[in-house]
Amino acid sequence: MHVAAHGVRDRPDHRDQPDCGQRRGHGTPLLEAREQDQERHHDDPASDPEERAEEAGDEADENEHGRIVRAVSELDRLAEAPDLASIILDVDGTLAPIVHKPEQAAVPEEARREVARLAGRYALVACVSGRTGEDARRLVGVDGVRYVGSHGLELEPDAARWSDEIHRFAGSVDWPVEDKGLTVSFHYREAEDEDAALEYLEEVAERARAAGLVPRFGRKVLEIRPPVHADKGTAVTALLDEAGLRRALYAGDDTTDLDAFRALDGLEVGIRVAVSSDEAPHELVSAADLVVWSPPELLELLGRL
Ligand SMILES: [Mg+2]
Repeated sequence: MHVAAHGVRDRPDHRDQPDCGQRRGHGTPLLEAREQDQERHHDDPASDPEERAEEAGDEADENEHGRIVRAVSELDRLAEAPDLASIILDVDGTLAPIVHKPEQAAVPEEARREVARLAGRYALVACVSGRTGEDARRLVGVDGVRYVGSHGLELEPDAARWSDEIHRFAGSVDWPVEDKGLTVSFHYREAEDEDAALEYLEEVAERARAAGLVPRFGRKVLEIRPPVHADKGTAVTALLDEAGLRRALYAGDDTTDLDAFRALDGLEVGIRVAVSSDEAPHELVSAADLVVWSPPELLELLGRL
């Protein structure tokens, strides 16, 4: 399996190894996976001693392969009945490639076209973002998509009550702040000395915690949130409940997307897609059913739906 659906063991540190990368250009990876699976079943059991010696590794590969094939058949189930299904996507790092300055992020035209196509076909297409919903809407710019911002906080009425407290706290921090309304973020991607930046922001996180707020680190960013239980998982659950749907695919690239992955547990069809990178948290890749390596590869996978 390659391009649009890598195995979860196919980590970035394996990419340069010829046996592990499995990146053979662009093709029709999902169909190939099924064909390869059938070929495997027709293979004779290992009779050569060397092959037997490799059985343990082969078994792991088989488990991995089985996991991918199951995920692929789940994709088929989703695509067979789009009126019963939902596609929910993170924005930054998932639809929009990561850039040094978040304000320069852009969703490429191909991604916009693909999201529009899905929105016309599926019962629900939603974008769940750490940005505000309004900003996510501006960035993605596709009508017919539901936008939920601030990691789901926008669906929680209690969150707004903490807004003043969070802004007061942000005013006490000697670091450029990104104001997201219900939360604030301190980015350190551009910091000259990343270690020093992280050390300072870890102190900020401690102070936020002491002030009754909730600090959360993401990809080169510290976010300060209100002490209101909301995350991308509660957002996904709320969206699916509201629409009465039990089938969903979720794609994301960061730690906060793990909550959304968990929200798919117990659904009739739940497909967790990690958009991996050198910065991707290991837990996200481990928890994923399918792994792609970039936003363009995610589009290839979405193109199958
Ligand atoms: Mg993201």
